[in-house]
Amino acid sequence: MQRWPLTLGRALGNDVVLDDPHVAAYHATLSPDAQGQLTLTVGDTVNGVSVGNRHFAAGARVPLEPGGAALQIGAVSEALLRLKESRYGGCADCGAQIPFERLQAEPWALRCLACEALHEVRSERLRSPNRI
Ligand SMILES: [Zn+2]
Repeated sequence: MQRWPLTLGRALGNDVVLDDPHVAAYHATLSPDAQGQLTLTVGDTVNGVSVGNRHFAAGARVPLEPGGAALQIGAVSEALLRLKESRYGGCADCGAQIPFERLQAEPWALRCLACEALHEVRSERLRSPNRI
């Protein structure tokens, strides 16, 4: 199960380690408030965090929409983290929790392994329509 708070950053002590030179050692923290609403706290970073199309600087506390939020941490889009139903790591296709080990290896993973495999098969067919 999810432990709170969830910390994100480049340092190895984080729950989610983001290997990106634009990410600070302790970039952001996610934790639920008393009502269970997930809140993002921006850590000691010059780059800040984008939530949807809004940007937040160090020290900001940002309540996240219960329906989910797209966080961008660091300059590269690969560090995009999706929060579905206020839960970090839900599969974009089936909604199942993506295993934590997978998220640690690929924090930007949008799908569980089963859905990712299906997605890759579909993408492959789109690229080569003559193949079955
Ligand atoms: Zn899935």
